[in-house]
Amino acid sequence: MKPDCIFCKIVAGKIPAEKVLENKGYIVIKDANPKVPGHLLVIPKKHYNSFLDMPHRKYEDFFQTVKDAIGTFSGDFNLIINNGKTAGQVIEHLHAHILPRKLEDGFKLNC
Ligand code: 5GP
Ligand code: ZN
Repeated sequence: MKPDCIFCKIVAGKIPAEKVLENKGYIVIKDANPKVPGHLLVIPKKHYNSFLDMPHRKYEDFFQTVKDAIGTFSGDFNLIINNGKTAGQVIEHLHAHILPRKLEDGFKLNC
């Protein structure tokens, strides 16, 4: 756990969050400021600053958890990981955004 990390505090139960899923290594929570309805965050319990800091042996569990989270709703989605301030990462604890998409939901992806 990294002191002063919001997501470490959520993992430790020190800050409340709406949990959608939990397994040995991950939690999936609802984003507090959803960009679209149902916006989810997949967060490893262990602190990694960004995707590059996660060892590749963890990828299978990480992406399986992402798939499990996607399985909690139906329809299309965007899967986004922001890495570094310039790329829009505000919380420096690795997390994947899952954005369920609906026609004309107003969300614009810049790529
Ligand atoms: P980033 O820009 O770092 O990729 O995304 C951080 C995300 O965390 C943002 O979408 C923001 O709304 C969300 N967030 C920030 N603080 C909290 C919090 O305390 N609880 C929850 N559930 N989400 C948070
Ligand atoms: Zn952390």
